[in-house]
Amino acid sequence: GMTGQKGWSRQWRDPEPKAHYDVVIVGGGLHGLATAYYLAKAHGLRNIAVLEKGWIGGGNAGRNTTIVRSNYAQPGNREFYEHSLQLWENLSHELNYNVMFSQRSHIALLHSPGAIDAAARNYNTMRLTGTPDTEIWDLSKLKRAVPHLNYAPDARFPIMGAAVQKRAGTARHDAVAWGYARAADALGVDIIQNCKVDGIARGGGRITALETSRGRITAGKVAFAVAGSTSLLWQMAGLGRLPIESHKLQAFVSEPLKPLLDQVVVFGMGGAHFYISQSDKGGMVFGGDLDWYKSYAQRGNLPIVQDVAEAAMSVLPCLGRVKLLRHWSGVVDMSMDGSHFICKTPLDNLYLNAGWNYGGFKASPASGWWFADLIANDRPAPMIAPFDLKRFERGVQIDERGAGPDCK
Ligand code: FAD
Repeated sequence: GMTGQKGWSRQWRDPEPKAHYDVVIVGGGLHGLATAYYLAKAHGLRNIAVLEKGWIGGGNAGRNTTIVRSNYAQPGNREFYEHSLQLWENLSHELNYNVMFSQRSHIALLHSPGAIDAAARNYNTMRLTGTPDTEIWDLSKLKRAVPHLNYAPDARFPIMGAAVQKRAGTARHDAVAWGYARAADALGVDIIQNCKVDGIARGGGRITALETSRGRITAGKVAFAVAGSTSLLWQMAGLGRLPIESHKLQAFVSEPLKPLLDQVVVFGMGGAHFYISQSDKGGMVFGGDLDWYKSYAQRGNLPIVQDVAEAAMSVLPCLGRVKLLRHWSGVVDMSMDGSHFICKTPLDNLYLNAGWNYGGFKASPASGWWFADLIANDRPAPMIAPFDLKRFERGVQIDERGAGPDCK
């Protein structure tokens, strides 16, 4: 602004699509961009394109509530998310781009002795398996840290304590998309926006070409990272049905306030689900649960406004007169056990990254890292081997819904 916006250089190129790439990644969200970056950086591939139907970061990447944590308890998930958190801790340096990663603590409120016991079991498991910063706080410690929660003893769900991960926090989601894009572009990756894949040609058990709004593109390998649109692309490839449903998830931001909340606070009782933090601009950023019907619409609606406002008032009554500034929705790819897919597919040269449910923002660095590893080496590393489509056939689900009292 101070320069009159003159002389600013592009952060990444705006290339015309080539007729052929070694790897084409469909989806210019965080997972697609991170995958392209690690394919180039860690595996030395150069002839890569990311095809995005709109603008990069215009999907869930730029619509989430930016919570990053690694407090998962299931084997498989806990190693994966801890690896992701470690990548977050160095991401601004790695990309030479300030992603504003703020490790301000994630505080999940607990409302019954049973919830405290269950959280203690999970958090002790995490401490023993490589995530040392997980703690259970009693009420007096919680009150000192967050004095203005609703501690009324006659509240519908009185607060009894909290499960806390101290290295968890938030990041600026747009900056993550831009940082990965700039870094990938610098390594030669073509980021092609306004390029929608709307047809897929197959032959000999492989994808032979992608029909796009900017012409036909052939590729040695094709990778889907399209989040809420996964089932559409899967059907386009003639592969039938997936264990994924697409649902809307809405989020909200208030008018800017003076500093009010230093942490991420999460509440999940009585069917409610609510999480809140304060952005660096002062807006209270918060969200709730899914719209329980399936949809591809990226629009909010009023019943969820009421639902989330009620939860907000029960946890932080001091928000009562705050004005809502904006409200929006993304389309999330809900898997049937709450866990993701990074895997090969029935087609030889097609790779799948999907099923991120409520929680793929925090996963972005590790998702890109391990998806790139899969694509480059054509075999799943042990870190992602359990996260395939066949786990439902095997009956080995990774049942950790990415939402709830100790989550989001
Ligand atoms: P996206 O950004 O959705 O990327 C997919 C891209 O594919 C899109 O840009 C889309 O335009 C493109 N695409 C689709 N079809 C085509 C096509 N045919 N051709 C070309 N391109 C195509 N996670 C957390 O960890 N913490 C949170 O606090 C959190 N809060 C959330 C709040 C909301 C309201 C929402 C909606 C999600 C939230 N998430 C959160 C989840 C997280 O945002 C997603 O899991 C993650 O962003 C998904 O990966 P992505 O960034 O690659 O997806």
